[in-house]
Amino acid sequence: MGNGQAGRCIFCGATGLSKEDVWPRWIRRATSHPGSDRSSQMITHALLANDHAVVAPQLHERQGPTTSRKVRKVCRDRCNGGWMSQLETNAKPLLLPMIKDVDHCELSLADQDILARWAVKTSIMMQFTDLSTKTSHPDDDVDFYQSGRALDVNRVWLGRHVGTQWDRRFFHANAVVGDRRTGQIVDMWGTTTIVIDSLVVFVLWDAPGLLGPKFPYSSEMVSIWPAVDEVEWPPTCSFADGTLSEAAVWVQKAAGQHFMS
Ligand SMILES: [Zn+2]
Repeated sequence: MGNGQAGRCIFCGATGLSKEDVWPRWIRRATSHPGSDRSSQMITHALLANDHAVVAPQLHERQGPTTSRKVRKVCRDRCNGGWMSQLETNAKPLLLPMIKDVDHCELSLADQDILARWAVKTSIMMQFTDLSTKTSHPDDDVDFYQSGRALDVNRVWLGRHVGTQWDRRFFHANAVVGDRRTGQIVDMWGTTTIVIDSLVVFVLWDAPGLLGPKFPYSSEMVSIWPAVDEVEWPPTCSFADGTLSEAAVWVQKAAGQHFMS
């Protein structure tokens, strides 16, 4: 397959690429903070732990428009104008009440399935804006397309934000663990934090399956993937700016602790 090669769709391998909005256009129309766009660029540093190097890129903030960002990685017909467009149509009525901070929202298993798929799709697209933090493997992108669902390596949560620093923003953090002698990558984790006004969408990439069970924000987030039962949004607690900033880089701390211990 040609997936992952220049000029080929990351999902289906077709040619005929088009530019895809990283932030879907309907979100730009639905939210009202045009001056608050921020993007986050990562600066990489390494923590050394025993025989491993935990590479944990750090946040460096950059002002400027992010919601108009586009990436040219998917084909026009089958993906961008096909299932991805349909996914936006399906996800939008589920996302909007939470973006607009309604009192109470019940999410069925089918709703959670759509929202988790939307979250993973959006995480994959956002990772292409800064390849130094790319976590999903090209095979993951293909598996995601072929299965039509969030992946086994993913966990997805939803939260509620009440601060002022994160009103419309995305942030992808990753932690790469390598063997210090061979330089081989041992494990890789990442999280995408997407905030659209009141709604927080949090996507974990945890191929080793080690960090998900240690997730410490269970009272601030409701888990929607893997889905087990109906859930209600908002969760018991909301995120203030400080806690949300900690959550956005939690994956790095957790990876570091895992290899220090
Ligand atoms: Zn395609």
